[in-house]
Amino acid sequence: MGKARMVGYNKISSCPQCEEKTFRTYFKSEPHNQERGYCLNCGFKSKTVEGKLTKAELAGLRKSECYNPRTKKFEFDSGKKD
Ligand SMILES: [Zn+2]
Repeated sequence: MGKARMVGYNKISSCPQCEEKTFRTYFKSEPHNQERGYCLNCGFKSKTVEGKLTKAELAGLRKSECYNPRTKKFEFDSGKKD
């Protein structure tokens, strides 16, 4: 059984909650990085959440991160505007 490409894996690691080595993680890199995992000891679980920002949230974040969607660049204040 060979793998042609590396698009996912699963592994056992330490649980972030109970610290037992019983935390199973599944990872997939396609269509984008996603991870889900659960602890067989304490039941802790986690997963990548997908969703979409509202237009207002996006506008607010672009502003606070100085991202200009027209130039597709981060434009940190070099002078004053407004
Ligand atoms: Zn646990």
